[in-house]
Amino acid sequence: MNSPLINIHSHSFDENNLTIFQGEIGLLNKWFSLGIHPCDADSPEPLKNFLNQLNLPNCLALGEIGLDKLKGPHLKTQIQVFEKQIELSEKLNLPVIIHCVKAWNELKIIKRQLKPTQPWVFHGFSKANILEDVLSQGLFVSFGEAIIRNPKLLAASTHVPLEKLFFETDDSNVSIETIYSEFAKAKQITLQELKEIQFNNFKRVFKKWKSG
Ligand SMILES: [Zn+2]
Repeated sequence: MNSPLINIHSHSFDENNLTIFQGEIGLLNKWFSLGIHPCDADSPEPLKNFLNQLNLPNCLALGEIGLDKLKGPHLKTQIQVFEKQIELSEKLNLPVIIHCVKAWNELKIIKRQLKPTQPWVFHGFSKANILEDVLSQGLFVSFGEAIIRNPKLLAASTHVPLEKLFFETDDSNVSIETIYSEFAKAKQITLQELKEIQFNNFKRVFKKWKSG
């Protein structure tokens, strides 16, 4: 199989590439991730409704979940809901898509306490100043359109070990092709090399994925 372009987090469908759609998809035959976003984390109650869907063979990850200091309920509540979902990801063997806004220190403490075995992918990564620390805690990082408009971030992204890296479009209009190309240029590797590395990372982390 040729290495496809992989978009690990998108709020819209993309028929041309291997994409993890974020959200409920009903019975559609698509890859998806699902979880209680910290901004909706008023109570862990909806978790029960998700269980069936998380067990579907096309659900590749639990997410986006995490902490957000700018939006959503009180941080204490967000932490409770987050920890419940981490427990679930361990039980179901699902990797986690992390949403983290101004709460890296809190998240780091939780990771150290819970010592999860499932991979955590810090999505929409945009803060070059915490990059080294995030990597030192064993997380994967996923970059989106921010690397196109932020040269400092793009430069920082080239220092991430290639096996710890992902790309995504999230809710932007920039295509995943453009994001791959910008990175490949900055990293001075070919698009084909990058695609192969990404496909290997994808298979290593999102283990429920099957081709065909
Ligand atoms: Zn998103």
